[in-house]
Amino acid sequence: MSDVPAALRAEVVLRAGKCGSGTMNTNRSQSKEEMTRTVEELDLDFHNFRCCGDEDLYPFGCPDCGRPMVFCYECDTLYGDLKSLENKVFQINHSDPAKPIFACPECGHEFEYWFIRDGRHKISFERWVEAGFGHILKDREQG
Ligand SMILES: [Zn+2]
Ligand SMILES: [Zn+2]
Repeated sequence: MSDVPAALRAEVVLRAGKCGSGTMNTNRSQSKEEMTRTVEELDLDFHNFRCCGDEDLYPFGCPDCGRPMVFCYECDTLYGDLKSLENKVFQINHSDPAKPIFACPECGHEFEYWFIRDGRHKISFERWVEAGFGHILKDREQG
């Protein structure tokens, strides 16, 4: 039985690679996640948002129900309903970092005050468009 643990084997391969033999076989290191593009601030067409005039818009998705939303971190405005961007009446905690900043309008998931910083709430292009909000993104996906 030559049952070498996978981790150990990987290390051996890694060391062999360092020797520069040029026989590295890395065809399984490409993870699917790397290929999924997330919606970023610059992907949004700001013309759709009539915000504070100094818009810093952060597109994100609810980790529980997947609802796409946008948050303006310049003026603390939540666009919790992308179907009607005039609807900005969502309750925001503006001042107490110890408490959630707001809750998901759909499932009630509470977002921590600094949720933007951890970068874990990015949403994939696919999911965003699937939800029907491709029209508020800039057209730069072609080609
Ligand atoms: Zn704003
Ligand atoms: Zn939710």
